[in-house]
Parts: sequence; C-alpha cells; structure tokens
Amino acid sequence: MRAAILENNNFIVKEVEKPSLDVFKTGAIVKVIGCGLCGSDIVKIKNGKAKNGDVLGHEVVGEIVDINTESRFEIGDKIVLGHHVPCFSCHYCHNGSYSMCRHFKSTNIKPGGFAEYIYVSEEHLSNTVFNVNLNLSDIEASFMEPLGCCIRAVRRADINHNTKNLVIGLGSVGILMGGALNAFGYKVYGCDLKAERVNLSKSYGFEYSFLLDDEDEIINKMREYASIGFDTIFLTAGASKALELAVKTVRDGGKIVVFSSVKDNAGFLNNQIYYRELTVMGSYSPSPIDLEDSIKFIEQGKVKVSGLSKVYSLENLNEAISDTISNKIMKAFIKL
Ligand SMILES: [Zn+2]
Ligand SMILES: [Zn+2]
Repeated sequence: MRAAILENNNFIVKEVEKPSLDVFKTGAIVKVIGCGLCGSDIVKIKNGKAKNGDVLGHEVVGEIVDINTESRFEIGDKIVLGHHVPCFSCHYCHNGSYSMCRHFKSTNIKPGGFAEYIYVSEEHLSNTVFNVNLNLSDIEASFMEPLGCCIRAVRRADINHNTKNLVIGLGSVGILMGGALNAFGYKVYGCDLKAERVNLSKSYGFEYSFLLDDEDEIINKMREYASIGFDTIFLTAGASKALELAVKTVRDGGKIVVFSSVKDNAGFLNNQIYYRELTVMGSYSPSPIDLEDSIKFIEQGKVKVSGLSKVYSLENLNEAISDTISNKIMKAFIKL
C-alpha cells in the first residue's frame, strides 16, 4: 500500500506493507478515505519528535475492510476514531486526567492516517471508534477528533453561563473552539492578526471578533464588549505575544486555558497569577466522552465544520504542510 513516510522533514510516498489481521489477530483494518492534517503533526516534525520512517496523521475517516472483534463494528462500516485510548483504571483516569494516562499515550493507530490502510486495535474499537452518519461528508466527519479536543478544553474550563469568553487565534482550531463554546451555550469572542480569519469567524458562532492590528486600540475596543475583561481566554495561537495578550484581556479572577505549544517555552508571570488570582490551565487531547459528544455535535449541526478545509492528495502532503504553516489555508484534508 502507499504511505507518506517522513524523511528529513519531507514526506515521500512509498510502497509499504499493508497492515494485516494475520499479524494483529484482533481489531480491524481500515481503508483510509481521508485524514485531516493537525497542527500537532507539524509540531512533531518541527520539534523532532517525529522520526525518519514515521507515518503521521490521526484525524482519520475510513471504512472497515477486515475485522475480528467482540465490538459492534463490522466490515463496510464508515468510521472516525480517536487514536489514543485511556486505561480507565489508573490514578490519572480515576481523576479525569484521561489524556495524561500512560496507557493513553502509548496507544495509537498503525502506521498513521497518511497511509492507504491502518490497523485499529480491539480496545480502540470498544472505546474510541464511532460510526459516521452517511449524511455527513468525509471532511465534516474528519473533524470529530480535533473538535473533541476543543470540547474537552471547554469542559475543563468549567465556565459559568452569562460569561464572556475570548478565543485568541482564529485558525481552524480557534474556529472549532468557538463552535464548541457556542454549542454549550457560552458567549464567545475571537481575535486574530488576519482580517480574513476575523471575517470568517462570524459565520462560525462568534459573537464578535477583533482584528489585532493596533494592540492598545484593540484592548480598548475589547473593553466595550467586556468591560472588566473576559472570563475565560482560550489560547489557540502558539506565540508568546498571545500569552501577553491573554494576561491583558482576562478579568481579575478569570481563567486562561492553554491549548497550544510555544516555541520559546515562554511562560506566565507569577505575580500576575498571584495578585490577580488567575487560573492558568492546560487542556490536551480528548477523552472518549468528548469524542462521542463531538461526533454528535457535528451530526446535529450544533458545530459547523464545513468550509474550512482544502483537499490535497497524499503526494501533495508536503505542500499541505507548507500551506498550513504559511497560513495560506485554514485546514488541509488529505484524500487517499
Ligand atoms: Zn489532531
Ligand atoms: Zn489510565
């Protein structure tokens, strides 16, 4: 089968051995229909976590072509999946930190979504695989995993109603975060450096979005909408400038949810957190419950996910990555 193999920061499409149940015995072989390109795939290439020979991609929509399972799935099912499975029995899992579970981190699909076929284990099938309603397009379905991550972040933030919340960064993840906040009934505002993204956010559930041209002026403008500052800030832009903006725009006693990595390991100021009683928290990856809600929200049209993606072939994965890095596109969907 064809798979995009990482070689010195570049992907090369090669023939590799197709995964088979002759080897894995239980679980399923899934023919990949398409796979979204996630920001975390790009981070893994940049920070060297992805090694030569790796196949990336996890936002898979596919069809089961072979199966040996005790689960409800069968050959021909169209599915989406979460690629990590928590153990549900460790200290992390018992305390709701599913994405910190060591088992969660060690599980994955094989070899990765940028390949014609993947192997999905039995424990994936019983916990993190979901049927796709045939009314959904392949691209819409592929947003199940990234939206699930946003749903987890919104849950963890434990927001009150009648609050005003700000998403910093209106790339595809910022847009999805706004959609998730909206689906839970919370008021959401957005901001970004790019005018197209600010405009786009208006049709994705944002109350109002600010174009970050002149920062002081914008912070004054934000005060017109949230006089004491925003209750919760969601940081989806991985830049140290965004951290400063979060501290400037959060209300005293408010929360900052960190949802992206930054290059230079910049951090928050101790005294700002202390004197202003801020809560700074992270949210990483989704738990099975978030995934289940995610596919429901997409099916019910509670979160709009269409109109964000550009389609690329597997051979054009490198182009999809560079177009994402240069912000030329919002989101890439790699069609197999
Ligand atoms: Zn992802
Ligand atoms: Zn666990």
